Amino acid sequence: MSIEYERDALQREVLPSGQEGRPAHARSFVSELRGSIAVQFLSLRARVVGLLTLIGAVLVAMSGIYVFIMFNQNLAREAELRAGAAGEVLAYAVRRADSLNEMEPILSAIGNAPYIAEAAIAGSDGRIVASSHPSWRGKSIAAIAAAYPDMRTIAPRPISIEQQTQLAGGNVRGGDYAVWLDLVDDGARAVAIIRIDTDRVAARLMGQAWNTMTWLAMTAILAILTVSMLIHRILVAPIEALRDYAQDQQQDEAAKPEQGDEIGVVSRALTASIQARRDGETQLALLASTDGLTGLGNRGFFKAALAEAISGAERHGGYVGVMILNLGGFKSINDTLGHDSGDLVLQRTADILKGCRREGDVVARIGGDEFGIVLRNVRGADEALELASRFVRAVGTPFRLGVQELQQASCVGMTLFPQDGRDADVLIKNADLALSRAQQEGAGACVLYRHELHLRAIERNQIERDLRSVVARQELKLYYQPKVDVATGQVTGAEALIRWHHEERGFIPPSVFIPVAERCGIIVELTKWVLAEACRQNRAWQDAGLLRIAVAVNVSAIDLRRADLTDTIANTLIAHGLSPQYLELEVTESMVMQDVDTVIGTLRRLRSLGIGIGIDDFGTGYSSLAYLKRFPVKRLKIDRSFINDIADRRDGHVIPKVIIDLAHALGVSVVAEGVESADQFDMLRELGCDEVQGYFLGRPMPAAEFEIFLRNSPAGGLCPPAVAGSAA
Ligand code: C2E
Ligand code: CA
Ligand code: CA
Repeated sequence: MSIEYERDALQREVLPSGQEGRPAHARSFVSELRGSIAVQFLSLRARVVGLLTLIGAVLVAMSGIYVFIMFNQNLAREAELRAGAAGEVLAYAVRRADSLNEMEPILSAIGNAPYIAEAAIAGSDGRIVASSHPSWRGKSIAAIAAAYPDMRTIAPRPISIEQQTQLAGGNVRGGDYAVWLDLVDDGARAVAIIRIDTDRVAARLMGQAWNTMTWLAMTAILAILTVSMLIHRILVAPIEALRDYAQDQQQDEAAKPEQGDEIGVVSRALTASIQARRDGETQLALLASTDGLTGLGNRGFFKAALAEAISGAERHGGYVGVMILNLGGFKSINDTLGHDSGDLVLQRTADILKGCRREGDVVARIGGDEFGIVLRNVRGADEALELASRFVRAVGTPFRLGVQELQQASCVGMTLFPQDGRDADVLIKNADLALSRAQQEGAGACVLYRHELHLRAIERNQIERDLRSVVARQELKLYYQPKVDVATGQVTGAEALIRWHHEERGFIPPSVFIPVAERCGIIVELTKWVLAEACRQNRAWQDAGLLRIAVAVNVSAIDLRRADLTDTIANTLIAHGLSPQYLELEVTESMVMQDVDTVIGTLRRLRSLGIGIGIDDFGTGYSSLAYLKRFPVKRLKIDRSFINDIADRRDGHVIPKVIIDLAHALGVSVVAEGVESADQFDMLRELGCDEVQGYFLGRPMPAAEFEIFLRNSPAGGLCPPAVAGSAA
């Protein structure tokens, strides 16, 4: 195959006539070719070599020009020098000679001297008298000049020996000189003609010039090589190393920059690394403001979002709502169902809150079981409260966690900008205050911070002060609320509920002062008083011949954790002569779920004394069934919140039913508290509940009133609930 054919084939393949018809692989070949040519010319090394070669070439050319100029100047000077030396010899000899004819041997000696071609002397008549060239003799200078065109201008004017003139007049190769010689004896003038052998002079000079040229070129090449080595070491190699490193760093093959563009590669890698650092910083900032579990913002983020919303509202007007939502009983979820379940509950809550928020609202997780919500552009307190209860309702919808059906209670504390504070910290603090108020009010409460809340905090301190002497001041009373057997309508027991009639403030509800008493430890003294009073009263009723019932006393978590609780109770029973079967203790579900082993020990000791144990508020504390089996429990008290909608909601009976069945399976009896209507009562009877307690059957009442209630209640036989209700 001929080369021509090959090239044609290549061209047809590589460069078909139509651009559109150009096959893809051909296009890629062309671009590769172009790329590789570009690499050749673009690579840093090539650019440096190119530049230095150019400099080298310029240097060599300049030295060539220099040598050429020097050669020409030297040629003229050399010829002049030689001619001058010969002229001097001739002038000297002419002055000594008697006649010009005597000059013959001197002229032939000069003619043989190196670099001199001919030497001759002409008399004043212009005819050659003596010459190194025999044929010149007798000829006129003009004839010789005609034979040697170079010698065309034999100067007609006198030229002193000092002013030798090149006869050829500016001719580069000129080597013919005429010298006027003043003859001493006759005062006449002779002319000496000296022809320099310029070819030989030029050859000698040429040799010298070549040497100089070679030295100059070699020096230039050496200098360039040294410089290029230095540049390679100092610049190219490090930049290439940087480029290789940068390319190695560039993981993404497609993003690899064009080859041969080292500075580009390095600068892109630098840009990429700066970008990566910036991204990293952004990522870090994001991480620092994000809650890892729920993906929501954290407390810091919440504060920042609130501050931003505040400055927006300052500029454009409007209210900003700050909401803190707390999950009820979250600790017991963690304790009883495990932390994984706790995490799931938190994630579910986060999802629900995100789903419920309006556009522009910010949801964050600001504490273990606390979520913060910034409500932008609320129209006022009513709308804020409405939004809060929407969140609480959404969180409270029943859901499944493994095999368990759960309902997550929550409550909300809220503040409004600008009326409750003008700065993020103050607003959050006030929302926290409102939240603690909401927690006192119980599950589902949404409390808007008002200035009074602040007063309440002050009030709390006063309550604490007054509580310290409350027992001595005899301001406490016990009320009794009946528990009634569902099947028989008979009073089976009473719950002792503490009442405080403050001499100045009037009635203070236990939900207000019990938490204060718990916090400052006075609760221990209060419980002792309640136990003594309940035992004394019960014994008194028994002594009066009334139906023997058990009185239930509420004990707090702090009481339950005290080692001397059993002794205190035993001593109280002995002191008042009451048999242990007539005393019951109510402990809440969440209480027994903390520190389970200690609590089980205490409860077992109490049970072995013969005292009944009831679990209060059951269903809100996520008890584990495994634990429930280990508790020496006599009763479960279904929490009021389940009874509330037992008859209203279609599925309201589901949880009470599960609790009742579960309790019966464990051999434990069930009380429903907070029964307020006949419908609720009927439903509970249907579900197989054992006992009921609530306003429908009887409100909490002072001892004297309860005594009458007890006397009137059937001490046997069936009594319809309505009768018991009307008696209340
Ligand atoms: P608790 O143990 O769950 O007591 C039941 C509460 O429900 C009582 O509130 C009672 O008055 C109220 N109640 C009863 N039937 C109904 C009803 O049909 N509807 C409604 N809405 N409420 C009903 P009270 O007396 O205000 O007590 C509140 C809480 O204070 C008690 O809740 C208990 O936790 C605590 N407490 C009361 N007395 C004592 C005490 O002597 N010692 C301790 N440690 N805590 C006490
Ligand atoms: Ca109770
Ligand atoms: Ca209760």
